[in-house]
Amino acid sequence: MPTIITKIGQYQGASTKQMPAAHLTRTMQLLEKTCNELDTELANEISENPALEMAEECRCPDCKQIIPSYPCQVCLNRLNGSGPIVYVAPRSTKTYSNEEYDEYYSTDNKLKDPETLSEHILKQVAPSVSSNERKIAEHVLARLNEHGFLIDHPAEIASYLRVSLDKTKNVIEIIKRVDPIGVASQDVMECLLIQLDMLEQDGKTHPLAHNLLTKYWEQLGKRDFKTIARKCNVSVQTVRSAAQFIKRNLSPYPAQSHWNNAANATGRYFRPDVEVMKNPHKQDGPLVVQVFSAAQGWLRVSSSVRTMVNKIEDPEKKDEWSAYLERAALFVKCMRQRDNAMKRIVKLIVKRQPQFILGTDKDLIPMTRAELAIELELHESTISRAVANKTIALPNGRIIPLSTFFDRSLAIRAAVQTIIDDETTAMTDEQVAHRLVDHGYKVARRTVAKYRSMLGILPANLRARQIPRAV
Ligand SMILES: [Zn+2]
Repeated sequence: MPTIITKIGQYQGASTKQMPAAHLTRTMQLLEKTCNELDTELANEISENPALEMAEECRCPDCKQIIPSYPCQVCLNRLNGSGPIVYVAPRSTKTYSNEEYDEYYSTDNKLKDPETLSEHILKQVAPSVSSNERKIAEHVLARLNEHGFLIDHPAEIASYLRVSLDKTKNVIEIIKRVDPIGVASQDVMECLLIQLDMLEQDGKTHPLAHNLLTKYWEQLGKRDFKTIARKCNVSVQTVRSAAQFIKRNLSPYPAQSHWNNAANATGRYFRPDVEVMKNPHKQDGPLVVQVFSAAQGWLRVSSSVRTMVNKIEDPEKKDEWSAYLERAALFVKCMRQRDNAMKRIVKLIVKRQPQFILGTDKDLIPMTRAELAIELELHESTISRAVANKTIALPNGRIIPLSTFFDRSLAIRAAVQTIIDDETTAMTDEQVAHRLVDHGYKVARRTVAKYRSMLGILPANLRARQIPRAV
């Protein structure tokens, strides 16, 4: 069996003397992986190593006893003490409360697709339009091509929906001005002009940019700066800087950036790595946290392979099979250490942030990975690996990146939301920045603009029209 010999040969080289280092590296590799990636890793390892097997058993990772369901009631009382109840379990076996689990996964608004472009835009547009206008917005958003441009003429939409052309145009104008700016434009030129207009309102502009787009589009495409300079009676350098301004600040295809972001998010938000639930048995009881492990069953070194190896007499063959056993034992150990590290880290995070978990973004208490590292006596990079790319499902059904707990801007974003919610006349980003000082945050105007956009709130000039309705 030549393939096996090669595999074992490779493995033996790395395993015999450098065991502790190899062991640590492997654990760190596993810690960095999401549950989905871990599934793949586990399947590969099992297919390559006959000494590694998955028993169809429900066993407690701590006391190793067979249990009827997760978590192990004996270890719960013994190990958890105060704070949240945290346990490691496979993703789709019986859980702490089956009812809650079923309800959670059957509610279709919980584990849905990443936000589509239409949803993203509608969320921003909805607060400032009537229900009738909202229907127009929905139809407009259904009539976009892959670049985000409107396929139909506004008049076609108006006649299809039997609404006035003015009203239709008005809704389209609002859509064009929310993030990503320029969606629902007729073409690239219109899209760029709207973005330019929005930048100007923000105080960012280039004196030649507008002319370049409207009058010298063709020359701009050919980078014929000399002709433009002569006709505008300016230096070639000025034309070049205007062209650069356009290239850096404007995006011809507004839908593109959104699709890229959405594609990256796919998968991560369907299957969280950790889930926090309210205590199903006791109101105000400790939170219940499930850290998902990859294994659907009990991962172990095959005892039948071990027995067989003991009986092998040929020394070369015995070595080959012993290497398999050693590799299987290492993998099992590293997987358990990975799960255990995740459990300890998640337990401390949940223990520190119950207000945020049960409350709102405003309730997040700033904390750092370094603080956790000291308290858990782990290296900071271990915390980083455990947190990286993982997601956590909160009791309200939201699935968020685990790194959110370390996001210092989250509480500031919540303050921006509060300030804007309480405004009586639409406040500019500048004014919001001033008001934030009262909340203890010193933030630049541009940062406020960024956070506002992340929150899906329209700029002040567009927000103005909804205020009278709210009062
Ligand atoms: Zn146990």
